[in-house]
Amino acid sequence: MAHFLRSFTSAPASCFIFLLRPDSIYPSLDLKMQTPKAPPGSPISTLFEIRQTPHCGRAVFATHDIPADTVVFCSDDLTLSVLLREYRREVCAQCFGYEHGRNLKISDPAVGFAFCSEGCQNKWREEVGEIGVQAWTAVENLVRKRGREDCEMVDVDLPRPKPKDITKAWEGVAAQAALIRVARHGDRISEEVTEETKVERPAQVTKQHRKALQRALLSPISPDVMSFCVSGLLWRYSKPGDWERVLTLIPDTTPYHNIADLQAFTRSYLHLLAVLPLPLLDFVTPETLFILSARDSHNSFGIRSLEDEGSEFFGYGCWPAASYFNHSCAPSLEKIRVGRMWEFRAGRDIEAGEELSITYLSGEERRLSRGKRMIILMNNWGFECGCERCEVIY
Ligand SMILES: [Zn+2]
Ligand SMILES: [Zn+2]
Repeated sequence: MAHFLRSFTSAPASCFIFLLRPDSIYPSLDLKMQTPKAPPGSPISTLFEIRQTPHCGRAVFATHDIPADTVVFCSDDLTLSVLLREYRREVCAQCFGYEHGRNLKISDPAVGFAFCSEGCQNKWREEVGEIGVQAWTAVENLVRKRGREDCEMVDVDLPRPKPKDITKAWEGVAAQAALIRVARHGDRISEEVTEETKVERPAQVTKQHRKALQRALLSPISPDVMSFCVSGLLWRYSKPGDWERVLTLIPDTTPYHNIADLQAFTRSYLHLLAVLPLPLLDFVTPETLFILSARDSHNSFGIRSLEDEGSEFFGYGCWPAASYFNHSCAPSLEKIRVGRMWEFRAGRDIEAGEELSITYLSGEERRLSRGKRMIILMNNWGFECGCERCEVIY
């Protein structure tokens, strides 16, 4: 099932399909080195550097000989992540720990997550903050009321919506969104009314506004899409200075898999406007939600089980620094998840000047023939692989 969800976009920005970054991304050039300044959030190490390439956009190259098994980089910059609902009881929301499908010891039904230890639970609550706890509680209340409804399964063969379809879909919910905002802000103003101030209830909140909000609450929900949005919105809210890390990732201008996926996002937008805590509402905009999807697509990693070649797909997340490594079917690096962090190790001896690459293919997919790998890479990530292994004609 996971393959039909957003999982199939879960890989870093790939080669071949992207144009070179505009110069404006690099405001200052070190003329002596002829190397552009590293973009915010990019990986930094004395073992490698990031360079532009003629055909593959930016890529990471070794600056020294690196012996096999050397830890080349650790990416601990998780920004947004989604833990699929079907795994919420079995996978720790903080460290993604998994106990072979057993329900974890600590469950936190108010927010809808489980944890492997009190330490993880406390850390999670500390990181999401008070507004985060309120946001997850609000979403959980909505999902619980709706029971087992789930409209996440979509037909992957449908065409991806084009930019004009995307614009039209977001415009299509703008009027209802505006009404919901008035209804919510009306709540805020009326909540602030005290006996002394006796401020009158804002006149603009009418039945029409409340109806728009109710209508949104009754439309079909997409819990995992809502989780994706909430995770990104909370991250933007709590770490505004880090937003640039996401903006420097290479965007996908058509990030929605099909029209149903796009509609799940526009509906989730209205759901979130209707239920999220008021301090978050200013961030709940089509622009922010689109940026999150556009940067997540092709840039996130699947969060998989650490055993059985990662056969269990728990969800996915975006680690901006990790997304700088390009794909190869014969990668020079192995990536290993350690809790919430990715560790990149040299899979073999690497010479100075070689590209540091990883694979986007899962364990079993790596063993497929060139033709089958090509199909997977094209369908899931939209590029034709030109790595050395694919260049060899079988
Ligand atoms: Zn844990
Ligand atoms: Zn290849």
